[in-house]
Formats: sequence, C-alpha cells, structure tokens
Amino acid sequence: MLSWWRRRRAVPALPDALWHGVLDDYSFLADRPASELERLRALSAQFLRDKEFHGAGGLQITDAMALAIAAQAVLPVLHLGLAWYDDFVGIVVHPGQVVARRSSVDDAGVLHDWDEVLAGEAMDQGPVMLSWEDVREAGARAGEGYNVVIHEFVHKLDMRDGLSDGCPPLPSHAAREAWMTVMQSEYDAFREKVVLADRFSGEPTWLDPYAAEGPDEFFAVACEAYFVNPARFAQEFPRLRELFGSFFRPTP
Ligand SMILES: [Zn+2]
Repeated sequence: MLSWWRRRRAVPALPDALWHGVLDDYSFLADRPASELERLRALSAQFLRDKEFHGAGGLQITDAMALAIAAQAVLPVLHLGLAWYDDFVGIVVHPGQVVARRSSVDDAGVLHDWDEVLAGEAMDQGPVMLSWEDVREAGARAGEGYNVVIHEFVHKLDMRDGLSDGCPPLPSHAAREAWMTVMQSEYDAFREKVVLADRFSGEPTWLDPYAAEGPDEFFAVACEAYFVNPARFAQEFPRLRELFGSFFRPTP
C-alpha cells in the first residue's frame, strides 16, 4: 500500500484527527502522561515511515489501522528507541485469527501435528503477523491486560539476542542473571496458580493462563498487562513491575 506517509522519506506529521481517533479507540494510550504522548506520537510517525504494512486475505489497511498498530508497537520502546525494531520491516495484518499447521517429532521419534490458532506471530529476524480483529479489541480488553500488538513486539525484543527465553538483551551478564532469577520465581509462582485454578478449582488468574506456556510467553503476556493496565499489574506483580521498569524506562 502506498500511503501518504510513504510518498516521502521525511517523517510525516500525523494529522490531528487521525492521532486523536487512535487515542479515543485505545484509552490506555490516552492515559499516558502528556510528555510520553508527545514522544509516542513522534515515534509512531517514524515507525510508519520505516515499516511496511501488508493486508492479507483481502484486508485493506487504512491509515487509521496502521497508526493504531504503530502506536501500540511503539509503547514498549518509547524510552528505548526504534532501533530495537530495526531487524525487520514487514507487518502482515490478517482480518482475523489464523490457523497454522504445526508439527514436531517427540523423543520417541513419533511425529505429531496439530492446528494452532494465532492472533499474532513474531518471527526472529522476520515480520510480525497480527489479526486485525484482535488488534481492534485491544481498547476494550485493556482491563484484562490483553494486547496482541504489545505481545508480539515484546517477542521481537526478547528475540533480539537470538534467544526466545523471556529475557531481552541486557547490558551485562550480571543484569541477565538478576533478570532470570526474578522471572523464574515469578513464572514458577504463576504456573502454580494456573495449575491450582485448572485442576483444583482455585481462583482463576487475572493474567491469561497462556503465560504459563513458557518463560517467553510469560514475558510477552506480562508485558501486555504492564503496559495497558499498569495499576492492576503493580498490584498483582510488584516485583515484575520494578524489573520491567528498570528495562523499559532506564534511568539515564
Ligand atoms: Zn506469544
């Protein structure tokens, strides 16, 4: 799609109406402090200049849709910079969720295949795929800490060091050790709660139980909630809030 912002390489000025429309649809963005919103708007414009959106399955991507995705994708790197996303250009948007055929061979050499339904997918060094239906719901579902765009873009941050392990690249080995220690204990505690809820009719977890699939998913799902419902996240995960704050909002 050759849209108005791709006709030139300079960073486009976002029309006010378009920007305010996105803030109306995604109130968790509008709730950020004014200084952050200014930066969010500027980085969103840069993001639109640098990335290419592709509609799949006949989906026409409007300027408003692209900006909605850009603004949510930028939120995690607001204080880190867009260079964290420089390993890819493409963002593929499907009208709804996508069924992917998966297969793997187990330890006994038996081939298993199954269908996985995806709201999004991030590939190492590759594009990000999103379901527009899920992107659109993100404004209404911020209360439950749900956000597919943040989820997939946090996977991109996680994978930048080549490992999808719930730990983004950090400045030192010691920082990585410290990160892993907190994440592992929070992940184990969360898994325990999911098991209690599943098998022993315990209280359902606030965070999506999908986070118990692995440390990488735990990081991505927790970050969704950290960014779209910071108040509830701080109550539920005070240690993670501090850990994520040290990464996403580094002190200069
Ligand atoms: Zn994921």
